[in-house]
Amino acid sequence: MTAPAPHPLSLTAAPFAAAYAHLKGDTRALYRDLFRQGAATGLSIDLPPIVRQLRSESPEGEVIKFVLDLGGTPLRGLSLGDASAPGTARDNATGTHASERRATSESVLIPMIGRGGIRTYTLCVSSQVGCAMGCTFCETAQMGLIRSLEPHEIVAQWFTAAHVLGIRPKNIVFMGMGEPLDNFDNVIQAIAVLTDHLGAHVAMNKITVSTVGRIDGMKKLAAQIHQPGWHRLNLAVSVNAPNDRIRSQIMPINRAMPMAELREVLLDWPKYGGAKICIEYVLIPGVNDAPEHARELAEYVAPLPACVNLIPYNPRRDSPWPAPDEADVTRFMEWLAAAGAYVKRRRTKGRDMMGACGQLGNPEIRKRKHTPLTVSSAE
Ligand code: SF4
Repeated sequence: MTAPAPHPLSLTAAPFAAAYAHLKGDTRALYRDLFRQGAATGLSIDLPPIVRQLRSESPEGEVIKFVLDLGGTPLRGLSLGDASAPGTARDNATGTHASERRATSESVLIPMIGRGGIRTYTLCVSSQVGCAMGCTFCETAQMGLIRSLEPHEIVAQWFTAAHVLGIRPKNIVFMGMGEPLDNFDNVIQAIAVLTDHLGAHVAMNKITVSTVGRIDGMKKLAAQIHQPGWHRLNLAVSVNAPNDRIRSQIMPINRAMPMAELREVLLDWPKYGGAKICIEYVLIPGVNDAPEHARELAEYVAPLPACVNLIPYNPRRDSPWPAPDEADVTRFMEWLAAAGAYVKRRRTKGRDMMGACGQLGNPEIRKRKHTPLTVSSAE
């Protein structure tokens, strides 16, 4: 018995041509049609359906959060597909019901008005269902890690945006559910597919991998960036604290991989062109928003080719902290700039539908027992 061909969305052009050589016609043209038009003659693809779609207005356009049903094995201890059970949602796309208790990915399309008044979209993709990293301010962390996504499940999020919702994103950021470097090989394969010139053809410099600061994965990513065609891949690192004491309280990874070690890796980060490393800092009232925190953070980033991206905290469900006021954010930015840091503010979009940064996650499965942190088994 021959093994089934790999999912078409998991393949770059050459392996696709080999795996689908039995199809009639030019396989390179089929590959191009699949990714550019969303369909190719004689090829049907198994695309995870949208089970939930939420839209929210922002000053720059509509923010769209969409949830894909990844199917497969039911989550342990939970039943599948009972449309009458609590926790089911109406499917905006098909009008049917689907259980939210299945493994689902969450993605957000974020609009941005650029120069000349042109609106573009950034697609925030998930690399895992849930996350093992346990950051205390993050909704996804409340789920624990359910599983990592396969390359085609990551690419399916782009495919759905481009060919089901009809919005071709300009940028892709791995800032949805999960720690991308905890799913290294599949994330790298998905990026290879997304940037394939014959297919989706997303520019490498329009893709950002955002990590919690997994030093082992960052070293592997640095090696990948040295490969031909990869040097313009962007890096973002969630720092979120001015020192180890605070960071270890809100980000358990810091106990295994402290800030000094993280900075060593960032100092060695491959330098190509003028792209800056994005240092993400979620501003949480009463936790990391004092003037001395701004000074410490500016000192930490001073030797790095970095830009601090200040993100007003978006409260997770049952959050012990509120969102910061506009005035708190502006003041912290000014303190950072006065201390010499290059800082930008991330505009908050989609908070009202739990679609903003740090708010993705399925409330139905958030009470599951957390999986242990995987940092201790890091290579
Ligand atoms: S902030 Fe990112 S790494 Fe931390 S728990 Fe949430 S998804 Fe995981």
